[in-house]
Amino acid sequence: MVKQLVVFDFDWSFVDQDTDRWVFEVLSTELRRLLQSRKSAGSGMQCTPDVVNDTMKDLYEKGFKKEDILEALRILPFHPAMKRAVTSLQSRSKDTTFLCLSNSNEVYIGTILEKHGLSNLFADIITNPAHWNPDAPDHLIIGRRLPASEPPHGCGVGCLANMCKGDELDAYLASHGGKDSYEKIVYVGDGGNDFCPLLRMRKGDLGLVRKGLELDARVKEEGEKAGLKIDVKYWEQAWQIDE
Ligand SMILES: [Mg+2]
Ligand SMILES: [Zn+2]
Repeated sequence: MVKQLVVFDFDWSFVDQDTDRWVFEVLSTELRRLLQSRKSAGSGMQCTPDVVNDTMKDLYEKGFKKEDILEALRILPFHPAMKRAVTSLQSRSKDTTFLCLSNSNEVYIGTILEKHGLSNLFADIITNPAHWNPDAPDHLIIGRRLPASEPPHGCGVGCLANMCKGDELDAYLASHGGKDSYEKIVYVGDGGNDFCPLLRMRKGDLGLVRKGLELDARVKEEGEKAGLKIDVKYWEQAWQIDE
């Protein structure tokens, strides 16, 4: 059997939405707009979890409850074909490990996976930390995977300050027998920050790049110059991932 690692970005890759935007879109147009204004007021390189954390505090102050947030996550679009793709691969291949590598957060991802009966799918979920404020149980606090107090990751490929996905993938592989203990690494992604981990992968590994989004553009515009070695396949909908 071929030991392989399948890495999933979460937003617009594993699920058909952006978790950060979705929660506010479901609950409050005003806060969805505020999230947008805060994002565009930044340099473009600002830290997504910081902006979401600020807006979460506003949501709490407006009186929204933990259950409102959890329910918004439970109704987030998740394609049945994606569930079929991963559960059938899991049952066919015991030597496949699934890893989630996402700039969302623990609470969002955990809630969605639980809703769909997939809590045990991923061997590891590498994402931003989040917890319910013990002094205000309806207030969700979201942090950074790489805390602001730590030295910067120094990635020059354009990863946000809170997480270099390439470094995270390398660290995972290093602590699980090394890159070469996997016959093949497959990465499913759509975002600009999924470009960095693709650069850490080898010839013969596979990138499943969602068509028409930022990663698609980066692969085409920067791939060759940056020394991208992997095979790339493009997809639009979850059924193609199943194929
Ligand atoms: Mg994404
Ligand atoms: Zn990086």
